[in-house]
Amino acid sequence: LQERIVKSTPARYSSTQACLENDISGTDNKGFKGHDMLAPFTAGWQSTDVDPLIIEKSEGSHVYDMQGRRYLDTLAGLWCTALGGNEPRLVDAATKQLNTLPFYHSFWNRTTKPSLDLAKELLDMFTAKKMAKAFFTNSGSEANDTQVKLVWYYNNALGRPNKKKFIARAKAYHGSTLISASLTGLPALHQNFDLPAPFVLHTDCPHYWRYHLPGETEEEFSTRLAKNLEDLILKEGPETIAAFIAEPVMGAGGVIPPPATYFDKIQAVVKKYDILFIADEVICAFGRLGTMFGSDKYNIKPDLVSLAKALSSAYMPIGAVLVSPEVSDVIHSQSNKLGSFSHGFTYSGHPVACAVALEAIKIYKEQNMVERVNRISPKFQEGLKAFSDSPIIGEIRGIGLILATEFVNNKSPNDPFPPEWGVGAYFGAQCQKNGMLVRVAGDTIMMSPPFVVTPEELDELISIYGKALRETEKRVE
Ligand code: PLP
Repeated sequence: LQERIVKSTPARYSSTQACLENDISGTDNKGFKGHDMLAPFTAGWQSTDVDPLIIEKSEGSHVYDMQGRRYLDTLAGLWCTALGGNEPRLVDAATKQLNTLPFYHSFWNRTTKPSLDLAKELLDMFTAKKMAKAFFTNSGSEANDTQVKLVWYYNNALGRPNKKKFIARAKAYHGSTLISASLTGLPALHQNFDLPAPFVLHTDCPHYWRYHLPGETEEEFSTRLAKNLEDLILKEGPETIAAFIAEPVMGAGGVIPPPATYFDKIQAVVKKYDILFIADEVICAFGRLGTMFGSDKYNIKPDLVSLAKALSSAYMPIGAVLVSPEVSDVIHSQSNKLGSFSHGFTYSGHPVACAVALEAIKIYKEQNMVERVNRISPKFQEGLKAFSDSPIIGEIRGIGLILATEFVNNKSPNDPFPPEWGVGAYFGAQCQKNGMLVRVAGDTIMMSPPFVVTPEELDELISIYGKALRETEKRVE
């Protein structure tokens, strides 16, 4: 079996794009091969020797490459273009703002109306726990870096200089700046970068299918993970642990919804030791899980929240941090003492990004996007989970409009395919050949289509997935 696969495998098989080299990409992109850009998260220095897929245009849930080939964009860009690729209202909102005030900053008590309006809107919208202030960033990574600075400032203000450690989870994704990459629990973001930073600890990944003990129920699994978290806190000393950060549903680490009772049990532990809870809602917010926020879905009562991505439907880069009154009151009184809270970015509260985000939120509300996701997501979830019987699929998991497929041998989490077989990459390449883009991470395939995906597009998605699966099965058989 191995011989057959390896024989038919191109020499470099590390990515979907490499699989397609000399296939559909062909030489069409000549001139961009060996291009000048150092591409993010691109294998090796591959951008210098593999044709990139160059996307030129977007329309609804589809994107088009330079040759006019059309692809169903099942990851909504990078889990972010919630309103699809050509929402004219967002373009109008940006244009209007660009024509009025393309830029002004928010430093030193100067600011702009769109940023104030957006802050108010977000505080009104987030109801899982009362939030008092919104701080704007350009990205999710900056939002999570900001969280660390807020929490440290808060504990310094409270005279607790030793309460500085953060606990995140294995397989979490919180970004790729130095601190957010430290919070991230993926080895690839640590190796060769001298990370994680020493103040970051990682606790268990809550992936029931992969990590539960024989006979252990989801509830028992959650109890065990909460106990492990408590043991870690006690080992380190509760007086040294400042905050716990979690995505309601883990995204880039493999789309991992929490097991039953997980967040109830984790929150109880965190609360017991006066540790702040940060909800990283960068992927989950604005309807993706079928609730306005992931915190609503799992009854999370965070002290701090990170937002980005669908906040502007990705039409402009923007992120935000929401701060509860308990935390913001302390920061407020301390900064009064010190003279200022010295943190911020030139583009914090960029008026064009805020105007676009305000319009995106208006559309989510007017079009009852949460309801729409709830209406359409059963077709997505059930349509794909129907493939669970495939002999090469270990688990298909997801909720709302987010889902992952994990390929394994013998349907066992402990029996991965040899990485050099490139099973996930091959599946991704088959999807791409058939007009569909998916996220490939090893042998895990992830999807999070735009909220505006239509039933017909879901039929297309399920049909291409089925075709790609049959091709992949044939190859692995
Ligand atoms: N947090 C989560 C949950 C994410 O999924 C991401 C990006 O995928 C980030 C943070 C980082 O956001 P950005 O890439 O905008 O810095």
